Amino acid sequence: MKKIILCIILSVLVSSVIFGISPAFAEDQFLLMPIRVQHGPTICAIEPQSDVKFPTLGKQLLDETEYAVIDWKTKLNEGLGRHPVWNISLIEVPLGQQNGFNYTQCDITIHYLPQPQENPNGFIATGVTIPNFETGKTNIEIYYLDIQSNWVKTEWTENGQGYYSYIDKPYYTGFVATSTQLGSTIRHEIGHSFGLGHYIVPYDRLHNIINGLEDMPSIMIDTVTVLGVKHYDITSLDIAQVKSIYGSGGFDNQAKQTSGYQRVYELSSSKSSYMPGEKITLDLNTNTFGERSFVEILVISSNDTMIENIVAYKTNSTIYLDGNYQNGKYLAELINPLTGDFDFTSFTIGTQNQVQDIVPTNQSPDIPSWVKDSSRQWASSEISNDEFAKGLQYLISNKIISQSQVSHLNHIPNWVKTNAGLWASGQISDQEFLRGIQYLTDSKIISVQ
Ligand SMILES: [Zn+2]
Repeated sequence: MKKIILCIILSVLVSSVIFGISPAFAEDQFLLMPIRVQHGPTICAIEPQSDVKFPTLGKQLLDETEYAVIDWKTKLNEGLGRHPVWNISLIEVPLGQQNGFNYTQCDITIHYLPQPQENPNGFIATGVTIPNFETGKTNIEIYYLDIQSNWVKTEWTENGQGYYSYIDKPYYTGFVATSTQLGSTIRHEIGHSFGLGHYIVPYDRLHNIINGLEDMPSIMIDTVTVLGVKHYDITSLDIAQVKSIYGSGGFDNQAKQTSGYQRVYELSSSKSSYMPGEKITLDLNTNTFGERSFVEILVISSNDTMIENIVAYKTNSTIYLDGNYQNGKYLAELINPLTGDFDFTSFTIGTQNQVQDIVPTNQSPDIPSWVKDSSRQWASSEISNDEFAKGLQYLISNKIISQSQVSHLNHIPNWVKTNAGLWASGQISDQEFLRGIQYLTDSKIISVQ
């Protein structure tokens, strides 16, 4: 059997605002993060619990953070001589001082963890920035374990023709990351906390960057995407972007202006309070969704830890969460990283009266009838695989089926095989083909086993 080689160097990225969904863009683009600091921010760096395996790590992380803050400050103030206007304060909070520390003074708090504690959708990341739209404060988590690329060969046959491709499924090695990874991640996450989104470059250019043929144009390129790249820096593009948001007078002298972002979508919880174990229903009103719109939904706990991270593509969807949450208050936030538009809502799990007599409801969520119809039509070839894939996407977006169920269903949907064939014979462009793969990785149909 003759093999056609589809050599795809693609990073399987975890979807989040923070880690970037990258629809195939034809040109460079700075995405948006609806976060604003109101004044010269105070960043609090919380020394992590000591780790016997890495005794000097806490000190190293605080040092890396100090260098990152100095780097941002220096570059923002470049050319201003003795009259710097960009003020950023850093408070390092060592282990011994964490009990009596006044956390209300922190606008941005940085925690350091080996890897994500809660692991929504099994995501792999070097760090995450979690905005709290209710309090206006931001929590950054830096994951200090090293991440390795892991290229996995995926094979399939179509009409007797063999195909294969390589897909990256990175993992944590258990060792501490390099100083380059830590330093660039901290700079990157601080960039998010100032309101910068990801800097997206077209695939060809990304390829050059990964291969060292081109410098990194921005510190805001998703750090997981460029694993192994040696030179990261806050660039003039990053500085220009901060100044385009706040003006040139610094964080403390912002021109009075609205952020320009709107709450054009509505995210609402069907109830303000749920019983433990009860299914949580979030309604998403996205009437203005265009062809390729998507939003990200973050659910965060009262200590600003990310519990869920969901991408929604469909207009006016309903999202069901399994409800295996601890009692407490949660915030659900919606972000459109292309427009910066956002909304948020909150709900609580458990009330004083309801905590007792817990009756877990194990009923399965409703599958809309159109999905069933489309499955039947697909089976009898009345509709295309593509249309069926949209149904699958709906189910995943709404957590009706989990990614593990999907990977049992099928390794790769037929429409991808078809696309691959068209691409191989030159009938569709690389961009179109990559978009298909991106779809798969975003929706995690190709998932880590
Ligand atoms: Zn990021």
